[in-house]
Amino acid sequence: MIMKNNPFNNYIENLKKALKKLKLPQSVEKILSTPNRIINKKISVRMDNGKSLKLNACRVQFNNARGPYKGGIRFHPDANLNEVKMLAAAMTIKCAVVNLPLGGAKGSVQFDPKKYSRFEIERISRAYAKAISPHIGENKDIPAPDVYTDSKIMSYILDEYEKINNRAEPGVVTGKPIPLGGSQGREAATGQGGVFVLLEIMKAAGLKSKDTKVAVQGFGNVGYHIARLLHEEGFTIVAVSDSAGGLYSKNGLDPRLVHKIKQEKKSVTAMYCEGKVCDSEKLLRDQVQVISNSELLECQCDILVPAALDNQITENNAGKIKAKLILELANGPTNPKADVVLFKKGVTIIPDVLANAGGVTVSYLEWVQNRTGYYWSENEVLEKMRPIMENAARQIFILSKELNIPLREAAFVSAVKTISEAIALRGGIK
Ligand code: NAD
Repeated sequence: MIMKNNPFNNYIENLKKALKKLKLPQSVEKILSTPNRIINKKISVRMDNGKSLKLNACRVQFNNARGPYKGGIRFHPDANLNEVKMLAAAMTIKCAVVNLPLGGAKGSVQFDPKKYSRFEIERISRAYAKAISPHIGENKDIPAPDVYTDSKIMSYILDEYEKINNRAEPGVVTGKPIPLGGSQGREAATGQGGVFVLLEIMKAAGLKSKDTKVAVQGFGNVGYHIARLLHEEGFTIVAVSDSAGGLYSKNGLDPRLVHKIKQEKKSVTAMYCEGKVCDSEKLLRDQVQVISNSELLECQCDILVPAALDNQITENNAGKIKAKLILELANGPTNPKADVVLFKKGVTIIPDVLANAGGVTVSYLEWVQNRTGYYWSENEVLEKMRPIMENAARQIFILSKELNIPLREAAFVSAVKTISEAIALRGGIK
């Protein structure tokens, strides 16, 4: 029985809609509702004080009909199996939406990395690599960074895996530092992919970028790069925010300047405020307002880009959103009830499985470079990524018009069709 408030339910809901449209047999629903393998481990790590720490760790390998499993590793105190299952399923869909020859997976270690030293984090990463080592590999399952993991952690995982297996295999993880076989262009990849998708959908819908106002929630890796790149494309960035709050200016903000201040002072509002005390003269002079994150979501703009957390747009605020287009760069920022409200209001949502697939696309290109041992410049990577993103965006847009369904539903229909074809060819559908 499916429980309430289980994030995996959102995936099942979207899957069911797609299966109904495609008129596929029940057996497909069963396959695509069930992970192929769940690896649950308790890892044991020595702390700096000599004591031993035991942590819950898992890897969910959801489906590999189209190629090796692919998906990030998350270090988070709230990581739980239902969330990891949902994220692994979403990776399966995402890789199929952009037509990468990969399946979907996700992994997690349940702890708060902020509370541990870098030496402890290295030992945790190595212990996790050891635990999942028999199940990963460049032809099996290829992890990557996710929440609170980065290129340094990928280096530990690569190093541990290669030591255990006594061979060089850089393609076993992606999101590595460049000297260990990482790809040029990875850092801005998710934002850049979002720009390619957005421009393609706007072109197909006959919309212009000039005078288009954009609000971006979250100013980390994804939020900063999308704001910077859209600013360079001529869009007006009217609002940005981070966990401490945001800034709004109808005349537009310069994302590079905001980023510089955030780097120095740790928050976007630090441009005008010290803690909760803000310089009202400076705000008035620059015609800028300090806003909360909920105000950002509801602000006067044409395009809203959630680039922070999941579950930000719900049935409680969907009715107040003024944007006509939402580019979902965060994973799962809109809940299914909000989807219905926004569809009725005529708001176009470019779903996460398409909008933020630039990250996994450059991961795929990193894996290709590792396997051939031939490395490309940043421009070459971007030029290989561009058609992958644009073709997927165009194809999903056309399908949504043909079937008169939202883009999210069209993305699921397209992905489920592609994955079930691969399953059928393997003799998996009776
Ligand atoms: P990040 O940690 O670099 O940045 C997250 C940003 O969100 C920070 O600026 C933080 O201050 C802000 N934030 C946190 N809580 C907030 C709140 N309550 N309101 C507003 N802002 C808040 O993370 P990231 O890599 O930029 O990832 C952002 C989102 O994009 C996540 O949902 C992630 O799963 C998704 N995503 C990232 C990638 C990637 O390549 N990094 C790829 C696909 C999807």
